[in-house]
Amino acid sequence: MSGVKIVKIKDYKENVREIFSALNFKIVSGEKILIKPNLVLPREAATGATTDLDLISALIEIIKENKAIPILAEGVGYEFDSRVFSILGIDKLVRKHDIQFIDLRRSKTFFKKTPSPIFKKIELPEILKEVHKIINVPKLKTHMLTGFSCGLKNLIGLLPLKERRKMHLFGLARSIVELNLIIPTHLTIVDASVIMHGKGPAFGDRIKLGYLLAGLNVFAVDFSAAQFLNINPLEIGHLKIAKKRGLIPEDQKRQTKTEDLSVVLPKNRFYNLLYWLVYFFDYLQEKITKKTSIAWWHRRFGMRPKLDIKKCHSFPACRDCLDICPVGAIKKETGLDFKKCAYIRCLKCFEVCPYEAIIIKGISRPGQNNG
Ligand code: SF4
Ligand code: SF4
Repeated sequence: MSGVKIVKIKDYKENVREIFSALNFKIVSGEKILIKPNLVLPREAATGATTDLDLISALIEIIKENKAIPILAEGVGYEFDSRVFSILGIDKLVRKHDIQFIDLRRSKTFFKKTPSPIFKKIELPEILKEVHKIINVPKLKTHMLTGFSCGLKNLIGLLPLKERRKMHLFGLARSIVELNLIIPTHLTIVDASVIMHGKGPAFGDRIKLGYLLAGLNVFAVDFSAAQFLNINPLEIGHLKIAKKRGLIPEDQKRQTKTEDLSVVLPKNRFYNLLYWLVYFFDYLQEKITKKTSIAWWHRRFGMRPKLDIKKCHSFPACRDCLDICPVGAIKKETGLDFKKCAYIRCLKCFEVCPYEAIIIKGISRPGQNNG
């Protein structure tokens, strides 16, 4: 049995209990349980970009009710910085539940030898040595590089930059499969409350769905999640490899509840080549200068908001973008200071502007249904 459970969201705590019971997932008192959500960028769950904090809260409460110890861990994308967590409200969530939060970009690491041809010696966060179980809580969305992002792809957030870069250089599809064989997860609960399609994972269009998908086998969950979006899983590189390697249960059945859903998959050949070149250049550069330039490439060529003063009829009378910017990057005297915005790029100003005076430059511009 593939054992993928699809539930309509009513109340997250009720839903999580239903999932635990249906999958016979047990929490033992005293266990340390790592929760790995998708909180890699500063856009709320309602945009389709990140895991819903209410779902994470429900999970934390249920783990605590079972007298186990929840630990939340995430590492933001390299084009962002750790302020992402306070912008998303993680600081408050951690205080409210009084739990440990690990910023994986700053955590200690260790090296582990593996039989994987890609990760012969992989650098992993120390916390993996401590925890008894991992609950993977990804967001369901499309992805410019991998086509599709769910539980398997979500584990990349555990890795330091060098390992992420290695994945790009060796091919993301193969590396994602290998990574999930090295780090087994015990339960995957996919947040499909609002999904992102088109130019995911950061700036695509959103669709409200209102479902959770869950299972003990992350390969089976991702296969079902693709089918749930009416995507042929075998069009997704890492799922095709997983299927070939016998990691998808043979009895995996299509159980979509979304026949009318039309999800746009990003065309990713150009982006894959571009990213490969950037990561290759970065690898060479680091060998010579000991410095990495990934974030610079993202800032220079990635999505960049710009204030079009001609369209901004109300500036400075209207203060909407000034008030909403979490890092004070917009001032009435100086307009939008991209240096302050560069590591955040949350698009809140773009979403709030009533006059479409915030325009977006660069590749991976947001879709129509994004504001
Ligand atoms: S300028 Fe706009 S995109 Fe940049 S951080 Fe501020 S609100 Fe977010
Ligand atoms: S929200 Fe739009 S109209 Fe208002 S100040 Fe900002 S750019 Fe101008």
